[in-house]
Amino acid sequence: MAAKKFVYFFGPEGSEGNASMKNILGGKGANLAEMCNMEIPVPAGFTIATDMCTVYYKNDRNYPPELAEQVDENLKKVEEVMGKKFGDPENPLLLSVRSGARASMPGMMDTILNLGLNENTLQGLIKTESDTRFAWDSLRRFMQMYGNVVMGIKGEHFEHAISSLKDKYGIKNDLEMTVENLKELVESYKKIVKEQTCKEFPTDPKEQLWGAIDAVFGSWMNERAIVYRKMNGFSDDWGTAVNVQAMVFGNMGNDCATGVAFTRNPATGEHIFFGEYLINAQGEDVVAGIRTPQQITLAGSKKWAAEHNVSEEERASKYPSLEEYMPEVYENLCNIYKKLELHYRDMQDIEFTIENRKLWMLQTRNGKRTAAAAVKIAVDMVNEGLIETDDALLRVTPDQIDQLLHPQFVKESKKNAKLITKGLPASPGAGTGQIVFNAEDAAAWKANGLETILVRLETSPEDITGMVAANGILTGRGGMTSHAAVVARGMGKCCVSGCGGLNINVDEKTIKTGDLVLKEGDWISIDGSTGEVLLGKVATETPQFNDEFEKLMNWADNRRALKIRTNADTPRDASTARRFGAQGIGLCRTEHMFFEGDRIKAVREMILADDLEGRKAALAKLIGHQRGDFYAILKEMQGLPVTIRLLDPPLHEFLPSEPQQIKEMAEIMGCSEEKINDKIKALHEINPMLGLRGCRLGITRPEITEMQTRAIIEAACELTKEGIKVFPEIMVPLVGNVQEFKYQEKIIRETAAKVFEEKGINVEFLVGTMIEVPRGALTADEIAEHAEFFSFGTNDLTQMCLGYSRDDANKFIYDYIDKGILEKNPFRSIDQTGVGQLVEIAARRGKKARPNIKLGVCGEHGGDPASIDFFHRCGLQYVSCSPYRVPIARLAAAQAAINNDVVRQIKQTAEDAYSKAESTAKDVYAKAGTVAKDAYSKAESGLKNLKETLENSEELKKGVEGAKKIFNDIKDKFKKD
Ligand code: PEP
Ligand code: MG
Repeated sequence: MAAKKFVYFFGPEGSEGNASMKNILGGKGANLAEMCNMEIPVPAGFTIATDMCTVYYKNDRNYPPELAEQVDENLKKVEEVMGKKFGDPENPLLLSVRSGARASMPGMMDTILNLGLNENTLQGLIKTESDTRFAWDSLRRFMQMYGNVVMGIKGEHFEHAISSLKDKYGIKNDLEMTVENLKELVESYKKIVKEQTCKEFPTDPKEQLWGAIDAVFGSWMNERAIVYRKMNGFSDDWGTAVNVQAMVFGNMGNDCATGVAFTRNPATGEHIFFGEYLINAQGEDVVAGIRTPQQITLAGSKKWAAEHNVSEEERASKYPSLEEYMPEVYENLCNIYKKLELHYRDMQDIEFTIENRKLWMLQTRNGKRTAAAAVKIAVDMVNEGLIETDDALLRVTPDQIDQLLHPQFVKESKKNAKLITKGLPASPGAGTGQIVFNAEDAAAWKANGLETILVRLETSPEDITGMVAANGILTGRGGMTSHAAVVARGMGKCCVSGCGGLNINVDEKTIKTGDLVLKEGDWISIDGSTGEVLLGKVATETPQFNDEFEKLMNWADNRRALKIRTNADTPRDASTARRFGAQGIGLCRTEHMFFEGDRIKAVREMILADDLEGRKAALAKLIGHQRGDFYAILKEMQGLPVTIRLLDPPLHEFLPSEPQQIKEMAEIMGCSEEKINDKIKALHEINPMLGLRGCRLGITRPEITEMQTRAIIEAACELTKEGIKVFPEIMVPLVGNVQEFKYQEKIIRETAAKVFEEKGINVEFLVGTMIEVPRGALTADEIAEHAEFFSFGTNDLTQMCLGYSRDDANKFIYDYIDKGILEKNPFRSIDQTGVGQLVEIAARRGKKARPNIKLGVCGEHGGDPASIDFFHRCGLQYVSCSPYRVPIARLAAAQAAINNDVVRQIKQTAEDAYSKAESTAKDVYAKAGTVAKDAYSKAESGLKNLKETLENSEELKKGVEGAKKIFNDIKDKFKKD
């Protein structure tokens, strides 16, 4: 049997992989392969597949024997293509070794450059490149990187060696180091390695290569990568690929450069080419933020100069754009970026190196972007005819919509704030907090409930937990593509970078600018959209939405099947939610109205009263308030459905606990404090969540149900008389037995009938129930005989199905998640396999008994995208969530509709199958032409069969046509080959 393929070659003559193979080759490897297939100049290399990472960990960090053979075979191919030999002292091939998971994890795993260098191969580099200094600098960079990443030596040892050498010779800038200095540095690095590891620095290039491969696979399980995966919901099982690629050099002199760019502005989404580069530098110099990068385009450069008060003369001489500095390379780069964007039909984040004026592409990937940019780019690309509206809806994540709802500074408050300085607007949004100078403090302060701004000279991947904890990030160095900027944008956290006007002293924990000295704990505010840094605490507010946002939301509304309602207890919540696009109220928790003003006293009177008469007297005080609330809410919703739930929580939640309150109640009720205390004791429950609550209250105290129904119906009648449309839905909570529902329904209908008679008017209304007790779900057919709607109370349903107290589960749930017992918190995202079954059963049985029954969800899960997808699949009609999650739910519901669209799925499967067939056939073709031909004819007849089967459906036909086109393209390409 042939050995399993673990290594895939890519090079100018084409590659064994392509962009659809991200799961196998990782994002970086798949895109390198794709660029080669597109005839874009990429240094040759090979990718060790992600499955090897899995094998490596399963095998106790060992490789199967066939890996070495496959690596050797591919290394030979790279040598042939590049015309150099690995380890050759005459003309050495040097390699880069980089990680690459299926989704990008910037800076989380390890990279090694200049691999293959030792004092012998270095001579070859000098001969061929005639640059001794460059060769020695490459060697010391390699030793430093390898020593740190592979051999685990702390970076500061090497940093310390550089500073001592610089002090010794009075050198200020790294570029001033001479060959002799660099040789001395290499010697001290060797000593450091020996001291720290008791080993020599490896000089055998093969040993170096395997060390680097080990380190990259090993970095998959480093702490920061684990944290990043957890934060982004990436699975540990994916594994990383290892990309081994021929080195090209951007640091061989002034004809060389390196840069990163975005095909559109990643902060705003503007359709302009946007990027930075450095002359005579290696890749990591651009993102490290140590040198100030220059702009790629002339327009960008002029804008940058204006923002930094740099004169045109100084700009043109010291900081020219690539467009001016190497116009022909710039033109070439423009052609490539356009080709890439057109091919991927998405904004690309590209990395390139220019070696002696020859342009090499080192990476392309879909660029990370701010939420605002995601919306703008998606909408623009539809307008430009690049993508369909469905694609646009899938391009924006519900989380990004969440970010768009993030605060901005209140104009008035900002006007009064003192501007300290300005940096780069690296990631938009407003943040305010107390200054901390390191990631640990940011996390610790957050744990103590404090708000912080993390201030650093520059950030590195180790700062990730602090960046998550802080309200914003401010750095002294770094450009728009620095680590801080890129990571903050991905997180949707505001960030101001490259704030050169601040003298940040991390050791002393101070910031100085002019006469102003700020210390740890002082308040500052930063505006990531303008780059402003302000003194003190500035008030923030939620932003207004722009036209692109409205357009995207309109597309979402047209695409989704689920309606989106809101959980709102006040007219203000209802009005906010309507502004956000809510189509009704899915849950109005009436008890929340009981706490306002003096109402609580009447509620307490009602609970503490000795008899029915006393209770009715107290309820009479409440009915006016309730009617007023219902009137205002129903009016705000203008005929949209409003589900009002009868009183639900256990009564003791309303009772006084403070002696002063007890005294007051005794006075109001004209009884002794002792009597009040006795009543409180009598109402005490051991397990109130499963005690006297929900419909059990309305059954033991029917007068409450009567009062609430009367208030709802009276308000509805009043509004109807005023000509305002209303549609109340009265909901009975916590029903587990149809008799409970019937008992409550009778009171509701009789009371409503009385009110209609009194008012001389009829109003349409529904009576339904919550499904939140497992027995209620299982007997849904019986309940649906009587209930006109079901609203799934997934909070209680989760609590009762899993047997986890919703109030106490936090004490163990995160442990469960850490230990892999639970994947996620079931109170946030519905447990589809367990609780989900109850929802499915109830929906199915409910519909069977009453085909037109209304089905919705009003638990917290109504705002969670994964749960929304599940509810869509269950065939529910609506979800209800908090007002601020309404736009998120609108998009998530559209995505659920798209992702579960059968036609789309068939088309996608056909496309995937063809692209797999393409790469397999290519592989076979390379080995035996006849076998490949055979494979084609089989694929062709398979297509014919598929076509015949699906011919009856117009939409499916479209899918097949799409697939056929792809197939023909492949066929044509192969004919050419
Ligand atoms: C529920 O249980 O899901 C629900 C919406 O009701 P509450 O959270 O008020 O118990
Ligand atoms: Mg409930």
